[in-house]
Amino acid sequence: MNTLEIVQIGHPVLRQTARALTREEILSDDIQQLITHMRDTMRTAPGVGLAAPQIGRDIQLAVIEDREEYHRNWPAIELQKRQRKPVAFHVIINPKLRVDKSQEVTFHEGCLSIPGLIGLVPRYLSVDVDYLNEHAEPQHIHATGWYARILQHEINHLQGILCIDHMPTRSISTIENYIKYQHD
Ligand code: ZN
Repeated sequence: MNTLEIVQIGHPVLRQTARALTREEILSDDIQQLITHMRDTMRTAPGVGLAAPQIGRDIQLAVIEDREEYHRNWPAIELQKRQRKPVAFHVIINPKLRVDKSQEVTFHEGCLSIPGLIGLVPRYLSVDVDYLNEHAEPQHIHATGWYARILQHEINHLQGILCIDHMPTRSISTIENYIKYQHD
């Protein structure tokens, strides 16, 4: 297993607009290997998404996976409120995000590049994403609920936007205190 160092908030790469990849680049050994390393890094963290800027690369690529085992410590009612369901591992490259602005939902959210802290983040409930997969093939996702939140979080990373930018500052908490005082 080859894990990469996760870049922390304050590093300029997290504030850059990442560049799109060409088909040739996507199919290159470099990017194919990077995808495997990012998958292993995300699983080790663990996290439900990891964007290339978080490992120091300013390219439009992110990996996503929300495993059932991550849900075991959550009460069913909390999973239901968040509309959180397992999402299989996949790679999104050069994504184009379209949001349905009719409904927003607000929950606490964190980021592997901002360790230990979470805060309230409003996100659109429903999104559509056009992107390329790891074989450089065009794909489409329609997502709602927590999956839509993950997609917005990861695609924001490719635009130099962090979840903390959306947080009312008074909602920011350590994860420890969040568990203790349950704000949601
Ligand atoms: Zn993040």
